[in-house]
Amino acid sequence: MVNEGFQRNAAHVASHLCEVVEHRWVNARYKYLRLSAQVDLVGATRPGQFYQLHCPVDSAHQPFLLRPMSVYGTGPAPGTIEFLYNVTGLGTHALAQLREGATMEIVGPLGNTFTLKPEFRRIMVLARGVGLATMAPLVRYAASRGVTVTAVMSARTPEDLMRDEFLRGVPAQVHSVYDSDGSSSVEAVESLLRALLAQAPHDAVYTCGSHRLLMLLQRVLADYPEVMGEVAMEQRMACGMGVCLSCVRLFDTADHGKQFLRVCREGPVFPIREVVGEVEFG
Ligand SMILES: Cc1cc2nc3c(=O)[nH]c(=O)nc-3n(C[C@H](O)[C@H](O)[C@H](O)COP(=O)(O)OP(=O)(O)OC[C@H]3O[C@@H](n4cnc5c(N)ncnc54)[C@H](O)[C@@H]3O)c2cc1C
Repeated sequence: MVNEGFQRNAAHVASHLCEVVEHRWVNARYKYLRLSAQVDLVGATRPGQFYQLHCPVDSAHQPFLLRPMSVYGTGPAPGTIEFLYNVTGLGTHALAQLREGATMEIVGPLGNTFTLKPEFRRIMVLARGVGLATMAPLVRYAASRGVTVTAVMSARTPEDLMRDEFLRGVPAQVHSVYDSDGSSSVEAVESLLRALLAQAPHDAVYTCGSHRLLMLLQRVLADYPEVMGEVAMEQRMACGMGVCLSCVRLFDTADHGKQFLRVCREGPVFPIREVVGEVEFG
Protein backbone atom coordinates (compact mmCIF):
# COMPACT_ATOMS: atom_id res chain seq x y z
CA MET A 1 0.00 0.00 0.00
CA VAL A 2 1.29 3.45 -0.91
CA ASN A 3 1.97 5.66 2.04
CA GLU A 4 1.88 9.24 0.88
CA GLY A 5 2.25 10.33 4.49
CA PHE A 6 6.02 10.06 4.04
CA GLN A 7 5.88 13.15 1.85
CA ARG A 8 4.63 15.42 4.58
CA ASN A 9 7.05 17.27 6.80
CA ALA A 10 8.16 15.74 10.08
CA ALA A 11 6.67 16.76 13.38
CA HIS A 12 9.01 17.32 16.32
CA VAL A 13 10.70 14.49 18.19
CA ALA A 14 8.66 13.25 21.13
CA SER A 15 8.13 10.28 23.40
CA HIS A 16 5.01 8.31 22.44
CA LEU A 17 3.19 5.79 24.59
CA CYS A 18 2.01 3.01 22.31
CA GLU A 19 -0.05 -0.14 22.53
CA VAL A 20 1.40 -3.36 21.14
CA VAL A 21 -1.15 -4.36 18.52
CA GLU A 22 0.69 -7.21 16.81
CA HIS A 23 3.93 -8.96 17.76
CA ARG A 24 4.97 -12.20 16.09
CA TRP A 25 7.91 -14.20 14.80
CA VAL A 26 8.58 -13.86 11.07
CA ASN A 27 11.18 -16.64 11.08
CA ALA A 28 13.58 -18.15 13.63
CA ARG A 29 15.45 -14.86 14.27
CA TYR A 30 13.25 -11.92 13.32
CA LYS A 31 10.14 -10.47 14.94
CA TYR A 32 7.54 -8.11 13.53
CA LEU A 33 6.14 -5.46 15.88
CA ARG A 34 3.13 -3.22 15.19
CA LEU A 35 2.34 -0.40 17.62
CA SER A 36 -0.47 2.07 17.88
CA ALA A 37 -0.11 5.59 19.29
CA GLN A 38 -2.69 8.29 19.92
CA VAL A 39 -0.79 10.77 17.74
CA ASP A 40 -0.14 10.97 13.99
CA LEU A 41 3.11 9.07 13.45
CA VAL A 42 2.47 8.53 9.74
CA GLY A 43 2.78 12.20 8.86
CA ALA A 44 5.81 12.59 11.11
CA THR A 45 7.92 9.72 9.81
CA ARG A 46 9.93 9.37 6.61
CA PRO A 47 11.90 6.47 5.04
CA GLY A 48 15.29 5.96 6.70
CA GLN A 49 14.28 7.51 10.02
CA PHE A 50 14.36 5.57 13.27
CA TYR A 51 12.87 5.51 16.76
CA GLN A 52 14.49 4.71 20.09
CA LEU A 53 12.57 1.87 21.74
CA HIS A 54 12.19 1.46 25.51
CA CYS A 55 12.68 -2.29 25.90
CA PRO A 56 10.79 -3.71 28.89
CA VAL A 57 12.61 -4.58 32.11
CA ASP A 58 11.98 -7.92 33.84
CA SER A 59 13.89 -10.20 36.18
CA ALA A 60 15.91 -11.69 33.32
CA HIS A 61 16.52 -8.54 31.24
CA GLN A 62 17.42 -5.05 32.45
CA PRO A 63 18.36 -3.04 29.35
CA PHE A 64 19.36 0.47 30.42
CA LEU A 65 19.70 2.20 27.06
CA LEU A 66 16.93 2.59 24.52
CA ARG A 67 17.45 0.60 21.32
CA PRO A 68 17.45 2.28 17.88
CA MET A 69 15.13 0.68 15.32
CA SER A 70 14.38 1.82 11.78
CA VAL A 71 10.81 2.43 10.84
CA TYR A 72 9.72 -0.57 8.81
CA GLY A 73 6.31 0.87 7.96
CA THR A 74 3.55 3.23 9.01
CA GLY A 75 -0.23 3.48 8.60
CA PRO A 76 -2.82 3.04 7.37
CA ALA A 77 -4.18 4.42 10.67
CA PRO A 78 -2.29 7.63 11.57
CA GLY A 79 -0.98 6.23 14.86
CA THR A 80 0.29 2.92 13.46
CA ILE A 81 4.02 2.21 13.21
CA GLU A 82 5.86 -1.02 12.40
CA PHE A 83 9.29 -2.43 13.23
CA LEU A 84 11.10 -5.58 12.10
CA TYR A 85 13.94 -6.66 14.32
CA ASN A 86 16.56 -9.32 14.85
CA VAL A 87 16.47 -10.84 18.33
CA THR A 88 20.18 -10.68 19.19
CA GLY A 89 21.18 -9.24 22.57
CA LEU A 90 19.79 -8.06 25.88
CA GLY A 91 17.47 -5.33 24.64
CA THR A 92 15.93 -7.20 21.76
CA HIS A 93 15.47 -10.36 23.87
CA ALA A 94 13.59 -8.21 26.38
CA LEU A 95 11.58 -6.63 23.58
CA ALA A 96 10.68 -10.05 22.22
CA GLN A 97 8.83 -10.82 25.51
CA LEU A 98 6.30 -8.01 25.00
CA ARG A 99 2.76 -9.31 24.71
CA GLU A 100 0.06 -7.95 22.46
CA GLY A 101 -2.04 -5.48 24.46
CA ALA A 102 0.93 -4.28 26.52
CA THR A 103 2.18 -0.69 26.34
CA MET A 104 5.63 0.61 25.52
CA GLU A 105 7.29 3.95 24.89
CA ILE A 106 9.12 4.97 21.74
CA VAL A 107 11.02 8.20 21.09
CA GLY A 108 11.20 9.79 17.65
CA PRO A 109 11.15 10.18 14.76
CA LEU A 110 14.93 10.56 14.74
CA GLY A 111 17.53 11.12 12.04
CA ASN A 112 17.35 12.11 8.40
CA THR A 113 15.83 10.48 5.35
CA PHE A 114 16.88 9.07 1.98
CA THR A 115 17.13 11.38 -1.03
CA LEU A 116 14.71 10.49 -3.80
CA LYS A 117 14.84 13.22 -6.44
CA PRO A 118 11.67 13.82 -8.53
CA GLU A 119 13.59 13.11 -11.74
CA PHE A 120 14.71 9.62 -10.62
CA ARG A 121 13.29 6.88 -12.86
CA ARG A 122 15.15 3.76 -11.70
CA ILE A 123 16.90 2.96 -8.44
CA MET A 124 18.77 -0.01 -7.03
CA VAL A 125 18.62 -1.16 -3.41
CA LEU A 126 21.20 -3.50 -1.92
CA ALA A 127 19.99 -4.88 1.40
CA ARG A 128 21.57 -7.37 3.74
CA GLY A 129 19.95 -8.95 6.79
CA VAL A 130 17.94 -6.55 8.87
CA GLY A 131 18.94 -3.72 6.54
CA LEU A 132 15.83 -4.66 4.66
CA ALA A 133 13.69 -3.23 7.48
CA THR A 134 15.31 0.17 6.92
CA MET A 135 14.95 0.05 3.15
CA ALA A 136 11.43 -1.34 2.83
CA PRO A 137 9.75 2.09 3.24
CA LEU A 138 12.05 3.58 0.59
CA VAL A 139 11.12 0.82 -1.86
CA ARG A 140 7.40 1.39 -1.27
CA TYR A 141 7.72 5.14 -1.53
CA ALA A 142 9.80 4.97 -4.74
CA ALA A 143 7.33 2.55 -6.35
CA SER A 144 4.44 4.83 -5.39
CA ARG A 145 6.10 7.57 -7.42
CA GLY A 146 6.50 5.35 -10.49
CA VAL A 147 10.21 4.66 -9.96
CA THR A 148 11.44 1.25 -11.17
CA VAL A 149 13.22 -0.72 -8.43
CA THR A 150 16.05 -3.21 -8.81
CA ALA A 151 16.56 -5.07 -5.52
CA VAL A 152 19.63 -7.09 -4.62
CA MET A 153 18.93 -9.00 -1.41
CA SER A 154 21.66 -10.74 0.55
CA ALA A 155 21.12 -13.25 3.37
CA ARG A 156 22.80 -16.20 5.06
CA THR A 157 20.29 -18.70 3.68
CA PRO A 158 17.06 -18.67 1.65
CA GLU A 159 15.14 -19.10 4.96
CA ASP A 160 16.63 -15.82 6.23
CA LEU A 161 15.87 -13.74 3.14
CA MET A 162 12.39 -12.32 3.97
CA ARG A 163 11.67 -11.35 0.36
CA ASP A 164 7.91 -10.91 0.95
CA GLU A 165 8.52 -8.81 4.08
CA PHE A 166 10.88 -6.60 2.08
CA LEU A 167 8.74 -6.01 -0.99
CA ARG A 168 5.30 -6.06 0.66
CA GLY A 169 3.67 -6.40 -2.75
CA VAL A 170 5.82 -3.77 -4.49
CA PRO A 171 6.92 -4.84 -7.99
CA ALA A 172 10.71 -5.07 -8.30
CA GLN A 173 13.34 -6.90 -10.25
CA VAL A 174 14.80 -9.04 -7.45
CA HIS A 175 18.18 -10.77 -7.32
CA SER A 176 18.80 -12.89 -4.22
CA VAL A 177 22.27 -13.93 -3.06
CA TYR A 178 23.19 -16.27 -0.19
CA ASP A 179 26.15 -17.13 2.00
CA SER A 180 25.06 -20.78 1.88
CA ASP A 181 25.83 -21.16 -1.84
CA GLY A 182 28.61 -18.57 -2.10
CA SER A 183 26.59 -16.20 -4.30
CA SER A 184 26.87 -13.43 -1.67
CA SER A 185 30.67 -13.26 -1.84
CA VAL A 186 32.09 -9.80 -2.57
CA GLU A 187 33.38 -10.96 -5.96
CA ALA A 188 30.04 -12.47 -7.00
CA VAL A 189 28.02 -9.45 -5.86
CA GLU A 190 30.42 -7.07 -7.60
CA SER A 191 29.93 -8.93 -10.91
CA LEU A 192 26.15 -8.86 -10.40
CA LEU A 193 26.08 -5.12 -9.59
CA ARG A 194 28.26 -4.21 -12.54
CA ALA A 195 26.10 -6.31 -14.88
CA LEU A 196 22.89 -4.68 -13.59
CA LEU A 197 24.32 -1.17 -13.88
CA ALA A 198 25.50 -1.94 -17.43
CA GLN A 199 22.08 -3.39 -18.37
CA ALA A 200 20.04 -0.32 -17.47
CA PRO A 201 20.89 3.20 -16.28
CA HIS A 202 20.15 3.66 -12.57
CA ASP A 203 19.77 7.11 -10.99
CA ALA A 204 20.71 6.02 -7.48
CA VAL A 205 21.87 3.08 -5.40
CA TYR A 206 20.98 2.68 -1.70
CA THR A 207 22.28 0.19 0.82
CA CYS A 208 21.97 -0.88 4.44
CA GLY A 209 23.03 -3.81 6.58
CA SER A 210 26.61 -4.64 5.62
CA HIS A 211 29.88 -2.75 5.88
CA ARG A 212 31.41 -5.15 3.35
CA LEU A 213 28.72 -4.36 0.76
CA LEU A 214 28.99 -0.66 1.53
CA MET A 215 32.71 -0.70 0.74
CA LEU A 216 32.02 -2.74 -2.39
CA LEU A 217 29.45 -0.20 -3.58
CA GLN A 218 31.86 2.64 -2.91
CA ARG A 219 34.34 0.96 -5.23
CA VAL A 220 31.76 0.19 -7.92
CA LEU A 221 30.26 3.69 -7.84
CA ALA A 222 33.70 5.19 -8.49
CA ASP A 223 33.13 3.97 -12.08
CA TYR A 224 29.62 5.48 -12.20
CA PRO A 225 30.00 9.15 -11.15
CA GLU A 226 26.50 9.99 -12.41
CA VAL A 227 24.82 7.52 -10.02
CA MET A 228 23.92 8.88 -6.56
CA GLY A 229 24.72 6.53 -3.67
CA GLU A 230 23.34 6.55 -0.11
CA VAL A 231 23.80 4.26 2.88
CA ALA A 232 21.77 4.01 6.09
CA MET A 233 24.39 3.34 8.78
CA GLU A 234 23.75 1.05 11.74
CA GLN A 235 26.21 2.39 14.28
CA ARG A 236 26.10 1.48 17.97
CA MET A 237 24.48 4.43 19.73
CA ALA A 238 23.26 5.42 23.17
CA CYS A 239 21.15 8.60 23.35
CA GLY A 240 20.17 8.66 19.67
CA MET A 241 19.72 12.44 19.80
CA GLY A 242 23.18 13.83 19.16
CA VAL A 243 24.19 14.48 22.77
CA CYS A 244 26.40 11.58 23.89
CA LEU A 245 28.59 11.42 20.75
CA SER A 246 28.97 7.64 21.06
CA CYS A 247 27.97 7.11 17.43
CA VAL A 248 30.43 9.51 15.74
CA ARG A 249 32.20 8.26 12.63
CA LEU A 250 34.72 9.74 10.25
CA PHE A 251 33.45 10.97 6.89
CA ASP A 252 35.24 12.61 3.98
CA THR A 253 32.61 15.14 2.99
CA ALA A 254 32.35 16.98 -0.33
CA ASP A 255 31.85 20.34 1.44
CA HIS A 256 34.13 20.23 4.49
CA GLY A 257 36.64 17.43 3.93
CA LYS A 258 37.35 14.97 6.74
CA GLN A 259 35.09 15.39 9.75
CA PHE A 260 33.44 13.36 12.47
CA LEU A 261 29.65 13.24 12.23
CA ARG A 262 26.99 11.78 14.51
CA VAL A 263 25.21 8.88 12.86
CA CYS A 264 22.10 9.55 14.95
CA ARG A 265 21.87 13.24 14.15
CA GLU A 266 23.54 14.00 10.82
CA GLY A 267 22.55 10.51 9.65
CA PRO A 268 21.76 7.70 9.67
CA VAL A 269 21.64 8.26 5.88
CA PHE A 270 24.93 9.42 4.31
CA PRO A 271 26.40 9.62 0.80
CA ILE A 272 28.17 6.31 0.14
CA ARG A 273 31.16 8.14 -1.33
CA GLU A 274 31.74 10.08 1.93
CA VAL A 275 32.04 7.09 4.28
CA VAL A 276 35.58 6.42 5.49
CA GLY A 277 35.99 2.64 5.81
CA GLU A 278 36.60 1.11 9.22
CA VAL A 279 39.94 -0.58 9.81
CA GLU A 280 39.42 -4.32 10.24
CA PHE A 281 41.68 -6.09 12.73
CA GLY A 282 42.65 -9.75 12.80
C1 LIG B 1 19.67 3.82 13.10
C2 LIG B 1 19.59 2.35 13.46
C3 LIG B 1 18.53 1.60 12.99
C4 LIG B 1 18.43 0.24 13.31
N1 LIG B 1 17.37 -0.46 12.83
C5 LIG B 1 17.25 -1.76 13.14
C6 LIG B 1 16.14 -2.51 12.70
O1 LIG B 1 15.25 -1.99 12.01
N2 LIG B 1 16.07 -3.81 13.06
C7 LIG B 1 17.06 -4.41 13.82
O2 LIG B 1 16.95 -5.59 14.10
N3 LIG B 1 18.11 -3.72 14.25
C8 LIG B 1 18.23 -2.41 13.94
N4 LIG B 1 19.30 -1.71 14.40
C9 LIG B 1 20.27 -2.37 15.24
C10 LIG B 1 19.67 -2.50 16.61
O3 LIG B 1 19.54 -1.26 17.24
C11 LIG B 1 20.57 -3.41 17.42
O4 LIG B 1 20.56 -4.68 16.85
C12 LIG B 1 20.08 -3.49 18.78
O5 LIG B 1 20.32 -2.25 19.40
C13 LIG B 1 20.78 -4.58 19.51
O6 LIG B 1 20.30 -4.45 20.77
P1 LIG B 1 20.40 -5.62 21.80
O7 LIG B 1 19.98 -5.05 23.08
O8 LIG B 1 19.68 -6.81 21.32
O9 LIG B 1 21.94 -5.99 21.80
P2 LIG B 1 23.01 -5.59 22.85
O10 LIG B 1 24.27 -6.18 22.35
O11 LIG B 1 22.56 -5.92 24.20
O12 LIG B 1 23.11 -4.03 22.73
C14 LIG B 1 24.04 -3.37 23.51
C15 LIG B 1 24.13 -1.93 23.12
O13 LIG B 1 24.75 -1.82 21.88
C16 LIG B 1 23.90 -1.19 21.02
N5 LIG B 1 23.97 -1.96 19.77
C17 LIG B 1 24.18 -3.27 19.64
N6 LIG B 1 24.21 -3.62 18.33
C18 LIG B 1 24.00 -2.51 17.63
C19 LIG B 1 23.92 -2.22 16.25
N7 LIG B 1 24.07 -3.14 15.30
N8 LIG B 1 23.68 -0.96 15.89
C20 LIG B 1 23.54 -0.01 16.81
N9 LIG B 1 23.62 -0.21 18.13
C21 LIG B 1 23.85 -1.44 18.55
C22 LIG B 1 22.53 -1.21 21.59
O14 LIG B 1 21.79 -0.07 21.24
C23 LIG B 1 22.81 -1.25 23.02
O15 LIG B 1 22.92 0.03 23.50
C24 LIG B 1 19.44 -0.37 14.10
C25 LIG B 1 20.50 0.39 14.57
C26 LIG B 1 20.58 1.73 14.26
C27 LIG B 1 21.73 2.54 14.75
